[in-house]
Amino acid sequence: EQVAEQRARISDGLAGVRHLVAVGSGKGGVGKSTLTLHLAGALRARGLRIAILDADFNGPSQARMAGVQGALFVPGRDRVALPRTSSGIGVFSMGSLVPETSALEFESTAQGESHTWRATREFALLGEILGAFEWGELDLLMFDLPPGAERTVQYADFLGPRTSFVLVTIPSEVARGVVARSVAALSKGPNRLLGYVENMSGYYCRDCDAIKPLFVSRNQADLGIPCLGTVPFDPELAQHCDQGLALADMPDTLVGQALDQIAQRLM
Ligand code: ADP
Repeated sequence: EQVAEQRARISDGLAGVRHLVAVGSGKGGVGKSTLTLHLAGALRARGLRIAILDADFNGPSQARMAGVQGALFVPGRDRVALPRTSSGIGVFSMGSLVPETSALEFESTAQGESHTWRATREFALLGEILGAFEWGELDLLMFDLPPGAERTVQYADFLGPRTSFVLVTIPSEVARGVVARSVAALSKGPNRLLGYVENMSGYYCRDCDAIKPLFVSRNQADLGIPCLGTVPFDPELAQHCDQGLALADMPDTLVGQALDQIAQRLM
């Protein structure tokens, strides 16, 4: 059948990938895409072979943040080379398949659809892309997932048990509560949950090379999975992304060190 054929083509294409890690979050805007790109940058700086598949249609596109162009592919034909940043990170962004204005239309028309139908269309397209690109030999392929507990679990089903998960949260009870739902749902399945990363925990002051408090921490729910590390708010991280800079080097700061340490724990 067609689905079985596509599955075979995907697992064939990913056979040379050592680790598959999906980065999810309970809600949008917590820094999932920013961290995915910078964690990839940290591993690339150590000489590892890394690629990112940005599965988030509606968020800011990884392709733009990473400064790579889109790629043309014809479903069912020979595999095409993955676009790369100047530092050599392979990046494919679903968001770059559609111009940004029509990404918004996609969102608005999708709202009238059932979740199932929308997911079916999305996964059909994602399957085409996984089958269409030349992933080659990689140490790590990272998936930047759309936000939401339900979506995270749908991706776990689609990507299969080889894919491990990392969840990004911020130090607010609301965001952690949302992540707790993803943890509970993922724990029922076969996928490994590596842990969570707490983003924007404090802000990094460059002048004094110190991390200062940002949110007032209250009693927070224990997520029951390992904390892989914390990353402070650092205006330079946001700037990197806004300017579409390729990340050849990690900043030699507390933030760069934090990213490097977290990245080591992904594989
Ligand atoms: P998500 O992928 O979860 O929707 P983004 O990665 O797009 O979130 O981040 C949302 C915004 O916050 C972006 O403008 C990004 O540049 C900024 N941002 C995220 N994490 C940090 C950080 N640690 N320091 C500074 N800015 C950040």
